[in-house]
Amino acid sequence: MKTIFEKSSGVNGILLESETKSCDCISSKFLRQGNIGLPQLSELEVMRHYKELSDRNFCIEKGFYPLGSCTMKYNPKVNEFLASLEGFTNLHPLSSDEDSQGALELMYRLQEALKVITGMQAVSLQPCAGAHGELSGMMVIKKYFEIKGEKRTKVLVPDSAHGTNPASAKMCGFEIVQIKSNERGQVDIADLKAHLDKDVAAIMMTNPNTLGLFEEKVLEISKIMHDNGSLLYYDGANFNAVMGYTNPYIMGFDVVHLNLHKTFATPHGGGGPGAGPICVTEALKEYLPSPVIDFDGKKYYRNYNLKHSIGKVKAFFGNFGVLVKAYAYILMMGDNLKKASGDAVLNANYIKEKLKGKYLLPYDEPCMHEFVLSGDWQKEQGVNTIGIAKRLMDYSIHPPTVYFPLIVHEAIMIEPTETESKAVLDNFIDVMIKIADEIKERPEFVMASPHSTPVKRVDETLAARHPDLQFKEG
Ligand SMILES: *Cc1c(COP(=O)(O)O)cnc(C)c1O
Repeated sequence: MKTIFEKSSGVNGILLESETKSCDCISSKFLRQGNIGLPQLSELEVMRHYKELSDRNFCIEKGFYPLGSCTMKYNPKVNEFLASLEGFTNLHPLSSDEDSQGALELMYRLQEALKVITGMQAVSLQPCAGAHGELSGMMVIKKYFEIKGEKRTKVLVPDSAHGTNPASAKMCGFEIVQIKSNERGQVDIADLKAHLDKDVAAIMMTNPNTLGLFEEKVLEISKIMHDNGSLLYYDGANFNAVMGYTNPYIMGFDVVHLNLHKTFATPHGGGGPGAGPICVTEALKEYLPSPVIDFDGKKYYRNYNLKHSIGKVKAFFGNFGVLVKAYAYILMMGDNLKKASGDAVLNANYIKEKLKGKYLLPYDEPCMHEFVLSGDWQKEQGVNTIGIAKRLMDYSIHPPTVYFPLIVHEAIMIEPTETESKAVLDNFIDVMIKIADEIKERPEFVMASPHSTPVKRVDETLAARHPDLQFKEG
């Protein structure tokens, strides 16, 4: 496929200001002399170009997208419609509180909803991604101990945690201490106790963890941590698994972030924009990033006067459009948020039970919203997990998350979400079984896949380090 510059046909789809027309308001030394070199195409040619590009892309509207840990659920279009209402899109972020009552009320109500959903007592909508929420939450914890006059330097992170957890704590200046998982994929309590001392500020837990397993000893862990004077951080990016069934407050956590762009149905396939609000207990309320949105009984207002606030972490008020979509989704779902979690968990367990035996299931336990297979059996036959992932593309299925979590060899992490029908799940199961059979018969063919996509195998390392965005056949 050619670039739009290569396609330039010399036909003008749109005429800008006539070149000969003089302008006496700008000094001639600032006026462009030569040709700017923009591609020239008719409107139809432009449309065909971008349609062709978009057809090469993959999205949830195009097919099944079981990308583990990413919660690629369908995002209802009514949310987009609401977020694009003029009253929201034309509101200037510097407008006064008086002139922004509707938007502030929406943010306030979203905060209230997130309080109910997480069980927590205070919310800041500022952070704009999951990892950003983690960093903000860890800054809250850091400041809490500073004000208390305690010098705590370490953060415990289980080896089944999401990779952003140690990264966020480290960026915040903490030393990371890794805690082992036991043979059932749960935090090893003995190992946790062995690493606990008065230098430990907090533990960061992903629950369900990245194996898709619920931490059964979570209450015991929160007691051990609190008895040590430490706090607990809950990575709530996997909240799709537990909504309405339990919450981090009941489990004994002090800080949690949510990924609105995962659980609360706002699109995130292209890398954003997102929103990663943090919710905290009463004791940490005054540490939140500001402003938070408050209500004095008459009007909604931006509150910058939190006593120990870590300050601003994002320009203006976070990613407002994402907040509108998440709020619309929560209102639309109501009590059915619980049903969404139930269905997400059911769907994951259904696929898991159908695929075990064909693929190695290292942790054979009831899973939550996702589960992790290992490609070890297939690797013995000459096809590694990358080969399986690429072959799925030939069947118009987005590959699952692969080689993560790190504690599973040749990991294949599958998260179907609740928005898929049984027919879609059954098709995925059939395709996975078919690929396992293909590997027995002709491993070289599978290893050479994908065979049907516009771009075939790329050098993954080189593609990430030196992306060449010009399309070349083959
Ligand atoms: C996606 C995810 C994150 C990071 O969220 P971003 O919005 O991509 O920064 C953190 N933890 C878990 C468990 C996740 O699934």
